[in-house]
Amino acid sequence: MLRTLTSVPSCIEHERLEFELSEVRMRGQYLTRLRSLSSYERAAWDRRESKALAELVDHELEHGCNG
Ligand SMILES: [Zn+2]
Repeated sequence: MLRTLTSVPSCIEHERLEFELSEVRMRGQYLTRLRSLSSYERAAWDRRESKALAELVDHELEHGCNG
């Protein structure tokens, strides 16, 4: 697939934050399937996911690199 160099500004930091968010989500889902999490554990994973998402959104706003 051809893609012009200017079409997508690559941002390593954005990619890293996106990767972290998907990691947190995948691990949370994996743990949930593995065994039932306590409400405390579930809340902790929810916090981690919101934090990762907030960091990604903050970065987009500051950097203006929307993906
Ligand atoms: Zn960026």
